[in-house]
Amino acid sequence: MEPGYSTRIDTPEFKEAMDKGNRTFVLTVALTALFLPPLVAGIAALISREQLPIVVAACAIVWIITIAIVAWLLGKRFLGKSWDGVVDSQHVGSERSGSGHRRQRVYITRFVTDSGRKVTYKERTLHPFYDYLTFGDRVRYHPRLSYPFEKYDKTADETVICPFCGRMSSIELTECSSCHKPLLV
Ligand SMILES: [Zn+2]
Repeated sequence: MEPGYSTRIDTPEFKEAMDKGNRTFVLTVALTALFLPPLVAGIAALISREQLPIVVAACAIVWIITIAIVAWLLGKRFLGKSWDGVVDSQHVGSERSGSGHRRQRVYITRFVTDSGRKVTYKERTLHPFYDYLTFGDRVRYHPRLSYPFEKYDKTADETVICPFCGRMSSIELTECSSCHKPLLV
């Protein structure tokens, strides 16, 4: 095996898996956006004992936040551009969890792109890229993949991260042993 980026990304089978993954992604985002605000409104109704202004306010706030997050997620995935770069640093930090009381670990990998831009990538409970990548690794970013980084030199590796489900698969395989979608090998 020679170092280099996989050419499989341009094959019909990979494109089909990618389209399917993107449809699932859009569906998940759309369903969350649809059902989250009424859910929060329902909780607000219970807590406030159905005081209408509080319920309307809670619903409106969640709508605005949801739309902003949806726009950001879709924009990143469908308008984001591919880039090549190098792993610049890695460290483990901590941040407040969703409920704000507990702190959770964040696994941070920083890249410098060939055009000199700095990119920060954060992982939380699962951190496949933090474990897989090391300082100095040359990578390509594929915005439309759920696990978007591909290593340039895989010659010393025994495993590769599935770009669809994030699990490690043997580099000898062409399909993920877990989700059976094509690997970038
Ligand atoms: Zn997989």
